[in-house]
Amino acid sequence: MASIQLKQTAGRQPQAVGIQFKDESGKERKALLKDPKQSEVILSSGTIGSPQLLLLSGIGTKKELEKLNIPVVIDNPDVGNGMSDNPMNTVFMPTKEPVQQSLIQTVGITRNGVFIEASSGFGLTSDGFGRHHGIISAEVVAIGQLSTTRPKERSLEADEKYARDKRSLPREAFQGGFILQKIDVPRSKGHLSLVDSDVDNNPSVTFNYFSHPDDLQRCVSGIRSIEQIVRTKHFADLTVDDTYTMEKLINISVPANMNLMPNRTDDTASLEQFCKDSMLTIWHYHGGCHVGKVVDGEYRVLGVSGLRVVDSSAFHRSPGTNPQATVMMMGRYGRVSSKLRY
Ligand SMILES: Cc1cc2nc3c(=O)[nH]c(=O)nc-3n(C[C@H](O)[C@H](O)[C@H](O)COP(=O)(O)OP(=O)(O)OC[C@H]3O[C@@H](n4cnc5c(N)ncnc54)[C@H](O)[C@@H]3O)c2cc1C
Repeated sequence: MASIQLKQTAGRQPQAVGIQFKDESGKERKALLKDPKQSEVILSSGTIGSPQLLLLSGIGTKKELEKLNIPVVIDNPDVGNGMSDNPMNTVFMPTKEPVQQSLIQTVGITRNGVFIEASSGFGLTSDGFGRHHGIISAEVVAIGQLSTTRPKERSLEADEKYARDKRSLPREAFQGGFILQKIDVPRSKGHLSLVDSDVDNNPSVTFNYFSHPDDLQRCVSGIRSIEQIVRTKHFADLTVDDTYTMEKLINISVPANMNLMPNRTDDTASLEQFCKDSMLTIWHYHGGCHVGKVVDGEYRVLGVSGLRVVDSSAFHRSPGTNPQATVMMMGRYGRVSSKLRY
């Protein structure tokens, strides 16, 4: 899909009457609603795709649209604003003996809003290293950590550095399990903007992780909570040797937390720096078409008739836990008019 077809009539709100899309051969086509007064266009292109499509359709900041020669339909500077992602950092725990395999589970939520989660058992099989530990595995990290670099810093050199680092992952870190901290409702916000008027070109997106001091402080407190867990006798008995201090675990964890940040210092002396250097995304990004700013409480695009956005771009806040069920329920039960309910 390339854009939403909007009909403009003097004295009336612009009306969504269909969509423009490219067919399999790349030919541009339109699909028009039979009866726009009785029907609607519902956009569910996700946190990146929905704000991108609104902008391409002329709904966004007037100045930015004019720069790209996109005819302005609605001047709304909030389209693409409030992009957010929940940063997480893991501390790896090598264990004496192989431990039972366990998928990620929430261990607890601290009073100041930090999820503490754990997973283990990925060193059990010979091919377990780098593969069988889900979100932290080298392969998954390879496809998914792009958001950890700012668009301007995404370069061939950054990719090559990533490939080099991946070859030298510390095997020791992956013999056991890990405990992670993840920020509930991050206060750091970013922005999405178009790079040009071609839908095939990804927009430029920043999440500005840890730009709000509260997020950084919560990360540090999350790592300290992990330290308290590590210091319990139960954990001391499990880890490779009793002298495994938190400092040693942090040292092991820094190179094991692979992201695409080009300017990592890998300084383990400060927990603030550890948080910044070892930050990973868990791919639960949201925002860009906030309720109250871009859509109303029933997900109708402000200032336009017959157009809704129903997906994760409408979220103001997210705890960072699995969002898919919520998104599916938005589609199923969201306040879409009763005519559209299944
Ligand atoms: C690697 C990874 C692992 C995840 N694991 C989990 C998990 O275990 N549990 C969980 O709950 N959540 C998980 N998530 C998060 C979850 O997938 C998202 O939060 C959720 O899918 C968001 O739903 P959405 O409808 O907003 O967007 P999406 O599911 O992203 O749907 C948007 C759709 O629109 C399409 N689209 C975009 N632009 C256009 C266009 N111009 N034309 C046509 N189509 C377009 C996209 O291709 C996509 O199919 C994971 C995400 C990732 C990336």
